[in-house]
Amino acid sequence: MASAQNPLLARTGIPKFDEIKPHHIGPAVTQVLQEANNGLTQIESNLSPTWEGLIRPLEEMGIPFEYAWGPVQHLLSVNNTNELRAEHEKMLPQVIEFGLRMGQSKPIYEGLLAMRDGPEWDSLNESQRRVINLKIRDAKLAGVGLPQDKREEFNRITTKLSKLATDFSNNVLDSTKAYEFIIKSKAETEGWPINLVQLSSQSYNHEKKTDESSPETGPWRITLEAPMLIPFLRHSKVRHQREKLLKAYVSRADSGDLDNKPLIREILQLRSEKAKLLGYESFAEMSLEAKMAPDVEAVQRMFHELFEASKPKSLVEFKEIEEIAENMGQKESLKHWDTAFWSERLKEERFRFTDDQLRPYFPFPKVLEGMFRLAESLFGVEIKETEETAPKWHPDVIYYKVYDKGQELASFYLDAYSRPGTKRGGAWMGVCLDRRIIDGKARLPVTYLNANATPPIGDRPSLLSFNEVTTLFHEFGHGLQAMLTTVDYSDVTGINGVEWDAVEVVSQFLELWCYHEPTLRTISGHWETGEPLPDELVRNLLETKIFRAATAMLRQLEFGMTDMELHSVFNPFGDETPFQVHERISRQTNVLPPMEEDHFLCAFGHIFAGGYAAGYYSYKWAEVLSADLYSVFQEANDREDEVKRLGQRFRETFLEPGGSVEPMKLFKDFMGREPSTEALLKQNNLI
Ligand code: ZN
Repeated sequence: MASAQNPLLARTGIPKFDEIKPHHIGPAVTQVLQEANNGLTQIESNLSPTWEGLIRPLEEMGIPFEYAWGPVQHLLSVNNTNELRAEHEKMLPQVIEFGLRMGQSKPIYEGLLAMRDGPEWDSLNESQRRVINLKIRDAKLAGVGLPQDKREEFNRITTKLSKLATDFSNNVLDSTKAYEFIIKSKAETEGWPINLVQLSSQSYNHEKKTDESSPETGPWRITLEAPMLIPFLRHSKVRHQREKLLKAYVSRADSGDLDNKPLIREILQLRSEKAKLLGYESFAEMSLEAKMAPDVEAVQRMFHELFEASKPKSLVEFKEIEEIAENMGQKESLKHWDTAFWSERLKEERFRFTDDQLRPYFPFPKVLEGMFRLAESLFGVEIKETEETAPKWHPDVIYYKVYDKGQELASFYLDAYSRPGTKRGGAWMGVCLDRRIIDGKARLPVTYLNANATPPIGDRPSLLSFNEVTTLFHEFGHGLQAMLTTVDYSDVTGINGVEWDAVEVVSQFLELWCYHEPTLRTISGHWETGEPLPDELVRNLLETKIFRAATAMLRQLEFGMTDMELHSVFNPFGDETPFQVHERISRQTNVLPPMEEDHFLCAFGHIFAGGYAAGYYSYKWAEVLSADLYSVFQEANDREDEVKRLGQRFRETFLEPGGSVEPMKLFKDFMGREPSTEALLKQNNLI
């Protein structure tokens, strides 16, 4: 096919989403890969260790991928079809292979080292130096600097680890899928929310390939998947069924053909060996090399402070649910399978509102307008829907532009509504085009803001749950960091190059504004009457943030502390088992002793099959930072000038540099000190 006709081979403007068809993928990606491989060979064989000779050509190699591969991945998540998936799958291995080739290129690595020690270094700016340093760091962590024999060993371990991770997550999936229990008695469904009734009835018909079940009469099929498990534990009045379900949940993938226990041991051993090959004491030390947290001690200090503050409060929170259980007639002492149930009853008693009662006060257009107004008042940017026609993948999609005093800075697509079957769930932000200099001019960034709100019906707009509101703010925060950047190097522009444990700082910072009363009032109002959110609901909503906050904190600490210990001081070749480590920590973080069946580690995919190994702490780390930053705005106490001044500084410190400066430096520039856990603890009423 002539390249002129293939929309994936266009390399200017915005990708032509409205023209891309699955059959374009193979030819376009093949061509792009061929060019890229040739380009790489050229760079490697005529190595010129200068910015213009090495870094610029490497950066420019990204452009064809931005147009040929980026849109395909985006369409896969918003307009998925079997044809698209098949074409994507066909090309994926080659794209991965190219990424590996580039990331593990020894000539390039040597070129980077020569640049770092060469005459040009002093004339490079801070962002450029960071680009080089990050590339060296990543190449080192990919084993590029090792001598031949060790490098082979390193690659053998890496391949084995990736196979083990796949096996691990397949075992979790399969054992989750293998479990069910069928409920036939209507009486046993008493108190269930309507969602659970519908889902479990659908699940029955789907699995048994019948239409025997109806939501009203059953049978109902309960599984270990979160959308059923969580409401079941919160609402089922049948205690022994809650017990059965929870025990099955915590013992997933812990026996028989799907046993993850030996895999855990082997993964920990191989990670430890891999770290040692690169000269690190432990895998945790290696993991932190590419993160903001300076060392394991700093992470442990944070754990310790959060733990000490939360532990006493968690005992009080436990007492409260013990009391309500007793008052409402439970004779047996409280067990693990009771806590979700009774905390839900306590929540109902204390707050007396449901998600569904709140929705009419959060019509999507109102929330959006309020969120844009917040961006305007904090960061001085104006967001407008544009008349300009941008290529779209669906008629519901809206294209916005971001301006500063009339000057265009960026643009984004909002794809707000759910489309079951073709669009993935949840909300997420994605980058379409990075900010770059092309032909001497800045090409402005373009991003995606995706959500799954219920589409409008007739004249009723889409109505959001409060959780959907905070998620939208969260993703918009990521988007602002990607769009307000002023950095032109694609490796460190916007969110690129930001350390893993600092990526969530801006997003969580923005989320906190949903609990800021004046903002909460601007983003809400009854869709029919325009009536503001009643004061009592406002109060309750703000209160829910601290409901059982200590228990929630300790739960996250249990995971984070276990992860960190297993990857640092734990000896994977020794006698102690990972389960003993988890049990020891679990005794500190829980009021109830651990269940004998608890083999939760066997399903802890975040650390054994995902990117969170020696990194689970990142959730809390980023939360500490965002709470700390937000506290400065709280102190401004809504004085308009002061908030504007702080917002402007936040924009200059966190949003404009993107990934071009170490996050700890940015943080200290803004705060004038190191991060502290105090603000997070205060905001959660834990001190
Ligand atoms: Zn996020």
